[in-house]
Amino acid sequence: MPTEPVPHAVQVCPLAYESRLQARPLAQVDLAVIHCTELPDLATARAYGERVLYPRSGTGNSGHYYIDRDGACHRYVEPGRIAHHVRGYNPRSVGIELVNAGRWPHWLDSRHQAMEEDYPQAQVDALVALLHALALQLPSLRYIAGHEDLDTGMEPASDDASILVPRKRDPGPRFPWQRVLEAVPLQRLA
Ligand SMILES: [Zn+2]
Repeated sequence: MPTEPVPHAVQVCPLAYESRLQARPLAQVDLAVIHCTELPDLATARAYGERVLYPRSGTGNSGHYYIDRDGACHRYVEPGRIAHHVRGYNPRSVGIELVNAGRWPHWLDSRHQAMEEDYPQAQVDALVALLHALALQLPSLRYIAGHEDLDTGMEPASDDASILVPRKRDPGPRFPWQRVLEAVPLQRLA
């Protein structure tokens, strides 16, 4: 059995619209979705999360948890509410965002699809610790998936509309799946 890392304290810093997101029973959550922010830093990810995109509900897109490169973990939305972070799977899932530049700032440029930033050890350790903590808190949590596994849509590239590129590629080829799957009691949903 791999050693379980010491959980980092999770800093609770709710988005302004958290209370307007639909509430759900914790037992409804059976899936953890791993994302990367595809933005330069946590402050920019926070600003994106705060943006109101759905005027009727006054809410926007965000994950529940954000883990910075140094392993600092922040909770933007409580898991007892449905956040908008993945098409088709929001009601049953908790979204975890890792700060990583991904394809930023040319997300859909066909010449810029490599995701070259590594996930530092401290960040992956914090993710494993968070997943252990969530497995205790969420009685039905059983599955884990990457955003790229669940949203496989393609879009015309921003530099050449005759080329299709993936809408979502996160967390991408540098994410250490094997290490995470060996360390947490979850199955990859594929
Ligand atoms: Zn994502």
